[in-house]
Amino acid sequence: MRTIDLSGKSALVTGVANHRSLAWAIAEALGEAGSRLAFTYQGERLKESVTSLAAKYPGSPVLPCDVTKDDEMDAVFAYLGREWGKLHVLIHSIAFARKEDLEGEFRRTSREGWNTALEISAYSFVALTHRAARLMADGGSVLTLTYQASQRVFPNYNVMGTAKAALEHAVRQLAFELGPQNIRVNAISAGPVSTLSARGVSGFTGMLSENRERAPLKRNIEPREVGDAAAFLCSPSSSGITGHILYVDAGYNIMGI
Ligand code: NAP
Repeated sequence: MRTIDLSGKSALVTGVANHRSLAWAIAEALGEAGSRLAFTYQGERLKESVTSLAAKYPGSPVLPCDVTKDDEMDAVFAYLGREWGKLHVLIHSIAFARKEDLEGEFRRTSREGWNTALEISAYSFVALTHRAARLMADGGSVLTLTYQASQRVFPNYNVMGTAKAALEHAVRQLAFELGPQNIRVNAISAGPVSTLSARGVSGFTGMLSENRERAPLKRNIEPREVGDAAAFLCSPSSSGITGHILYVDAGYNIMGI
């Protein structure tokens, strides 16, 4: 039997807030496959929780990185360039919109709310990938997390749907640009999972039950399943796949009624 082997690979995982974060499930899958890990956190508030989770993988750097700050992004890759030399995997698992932009009428989205959501949830993927690619001298794999609201209407998801549509376009554009360097760029479109940021979407528990009732597998997904799919997309087993949006949603996306 072939298993996923990422020994000798170095991965930067962004977006761990706590043990429920999809980024943490991905880190665990990459770590189990033998990858060396580095983590980033946003602001001092999260430093302790990310550091204590990262302790499971001794020696993993834990670095500050608020993606609204170019100097913090630069510092992460300068550190990794100095300490590791090369990078093989980038996990982008970051999204944010203001609470008031995740409920009510989409047409009332403010300019500031729009810019915030698009900057943090989509532009950051372009900016981090640009920096990571410079360290991917042996080729690499870049992965982001998206949601089906990029394609279809999910009430209350509002401007985050716009951000996910931009993010998915960026996956294709970056896959095109970085393909000649053997850097593959993909996304996982996850079904709803109860995490800190998901609970910020008004009516999120309704999304969970709707998915459970209508999905072909008649259940919600487990974070571990996102981790397993991520390990596949970051491994040589997926060497022919780039620019792809892989649904890990118990099949919900295929349903009409
Ligand atoms: P999460 O644990 O809350 O992770 C979101 C992460 O984004 C947090 O670590 C958050 O840090 C970080 N972040 C927000 N603003 C940032 C900034 N300015 N700089 C750096 N990091 C920032 O929730 P999650 O559900 O795992 O979300 C991860 C990704 O999966 C997101 O892209 C989300 O849209 C996507 N996704 C989630 C679901 C779901 O149902 N959970 C489904 C499909 C896709 P703070 O906590 O400090 O804000």
